Amino acid sequence: MAFADKDDVRRLADLLEAAESVVIFTGAGISTESGIPDFRSPGGLWTKYKPIDFSDFMASEEMRRESWRRKFAMDRTMTTAEPNRGHRAVARLVDTGKVSAVITQNIDGLHQASGIPDMQVIELHGNATYAKCLGCGLRHELDPIKEAFLVDEAMPVCTGCGSEFMKTATISFGQSMPEAEMARAQRETLACDLFIAIGSSLVVYPAAGFPVMAKQNGSGMVILNREPTDLDQYADLVINGEIGPTLGDAVAVN
Ligand code: NAD
Ligand code: ZN
Repeated sequence: MAFADKDDVRRLADLLEAAESVVIFTGAGISTESGIPDFRSPGGLWTKYKPIDFSDFMASEEMRRESWRRKFAMDRTMTTAEPNRGHRAVARLVDTGKVSAVITQNIDGLHQASGIPDMQVIELHGNATYAKCLGCGLRHELDPIKEAFLVDEAMPVCTGCGSEFMKTATISFGQSMPEAEMARAQRETLACDLFIAIGSSLVVYPAAGFPVMAKQNGSGMVILNREPTDLDQYADLVINGEIGPTLGDAVAVN
């Protein structure tokens, strides 16, 4: 485990102090300390499962079945995970009014679980803690779907419209981005004076476009990751270190 340089942590604290309106942007890295694997780290999900593209999900019942299999195989980790020090530090910054919005690529709901109001969390890739009918948009809770699926892999059918196209409420590769969330994320990005990208490999677009958008608009930009990212050259400060200890120290949160 690599700890961030103490001077870097101090610089981050100073930047936060001087900023008036901060946007926090998070990726899977902020949740690894809660036990949820990310995609691209060694041993991450990427090495086990090739993501199911949206067009394959739509075209094949077997692919839809496979996506539920994966979902429920992973589900224990997701449903028992709790916010960690990094989430708590972000929640504190929101609470003090310094951070206007948290833009997240995560689908685990841990920012909300850390106490950040739903209104201030912008989920670019949706949420895996419930399902949605692709036909009529109706929300479905996962428990009954899981119970039936685990018996004989019974596929869920929408109780609202009868559609068989039920999916966790996440955005798959190849699926269009949620318009309202993209618009809000853009507004927030263009209104901030400090943008902090935390625990994202910054390679999944369009989400990864926001840090550059902030920078080009004149905002300060910080990247916090245990590894270098492709966008480090745009950042005013790059901190290579573990997220929980770094943010926890910068914000003085345990
Ligand atoms: P990613 O896996 O591509 O990148 C995670 C990054 O975080 C890596 O660069 C890694 O070096 C860094 N990292 C991991 N743990 C860290 C730690 N403790 N301290 C510092 N750095 C750490 O993730 P991404 O950029 O978010 O893109 C992957 C996509 O997969 C996202 O769109 C997201 O929707 C989805 N996803 C979400 C979750 C989740 O909700 N928790 C988990 C896996 C994947
Ligand atoms: Zn429906």
